[in-house]
Amino acid sequence: MDKKKADIVIDCSNLIILPGFIQTHTHLCQTLFRGQADDLQLLPWLQQKIWPMEASHDAATMRISARLGIAEMLKSGTTTIQDMGSVHHYDEIFDEAKQTGIRINGGKCMMDFAETVPDYLLEDCRSSLQETERLIKTWHNTENHRLRYSMAPRFAVSCTTKLLAESAAMARHYGCNLHTHASENRDEIALIEKRENSRNIDFLHKYGFTGEDTTLVHCVWLNEHEKATLQHTHTSVAHCPASNMKLASGFAPIIDLLQRGVNVSLGTDGAPCNNNHDMLLEMRLAALIHKPAYGADAITAKDVVHMATIAGAKALNLEKEIGSLEVGKKADIIGLSASALHSMPADDVYSQIVYSMSGHDVQLTMVDGEILMLDRELKTIDEEATLAAVQPALRDVVSRSSTL
Ligand SMILES: [Zn+2]
Repeated sequence: MDKKKADIVIDCSNLIILPGFIQTHTHLCQTLFRGQADDLQLLPWLQQKIWPMEASHDAATMRISARLGIAEMLKSGTTTIQDMGSVHHYDEIFDEAKQTGIRINGGKCMMDFAETVPDYLLEDCRSSLQETERLIKTWHNTENHRLRYSMAPRFAVSCTTKLLAESAAMARHYGCNLHTHASENRDEIALIEKRENSRNIDFLHKYGFTGEDTTLVHCVWLNEHEKATLQHTHTSVAHCPASNMKLASGFAPIIDLLQRGVNVSLGTDGAPCNNNHDMLLEMRLAALIHKPAYGADAITAKDVVHMATIAGAKALNLEKEIGSLEVGKKADIIGLSASALHSMPADDVYSQIVYSMSGHDVQLTMVDGEILMLDRELKTIDEEATLAAVQPALRDVVSRSSTL
């Protein structure tokens, strides 16, 4: 471009320029709960801590939670997220994404199985579907297609077969993605085996939750038949290594899945099970944790950059628009410091990025051609005001959740 015709000229001579990172699984509604639910396994983590706090959000605290998470993500190079909300207040998440400029595939979480869902979050199937349809009609494909809807039943344990089947049909009717947790934890699988006499992935497959439009999150405990189902249905898997270790869920068979050709992308999951949204730290973990079992070359730094970018775009069926730097694609671009002390010498750029860097190295974040962060300064979020609002918002949520 002619320098004289550009609105802004950025000196990128000391930056590594990449497509923005794509997180295919996170929960902005939980950012406010960071540090509130440490050292628990999945089901008690949900039942004792996360569900009461999610139910205690009001519209104002939901906004603070989302803004805190988005600010952290933009400062650490994430430009697109697939987000699962709580049952209520998803308009606030979309509106925060609209205002801050991040790209989002989001959806309210759906839970209608009375025996496993506490009363304060339980929905009936019809009202859950009606609210979801209202959100789709309000937000899907708005803001130059930057805001899109991903249908989000929480997990098989919390959903009736009617909700699963009808939500899959609704997603396909409106051209939305499907996004749910699957086979994260052995107790979760045992519940489905007892209730449905079926392996979890087989059960989800039966009700429509597999295919090129579907992201199954975690997939830690799979048998060979389930791996083959994911492979043959072209279902994407979102790998969240920090969450899997922090909740003691296990090590997902990612190398097996990659060898089968399954599309595997990455996510940080919610702040209370990570406890951050730094994609570069997640990439480092994804590169390291499979080596002891599968060998040092089982997954390379270059493989992990692929998972964090174009594989994420593919999971969301957006590979023609984002996930790589090509003429004609959206300008979702990040710049990383090329010569920091901790990442020099600069011999192999993939090695620098995955094994040596963290989110603090990100100097530029652009989404759809808009500069959202430059030289560590957020352009669409008042960082100081956001930080000042965090503790009061948390106090409000904790005080309401103590009465449940
Ligand atoms: Zn999750």
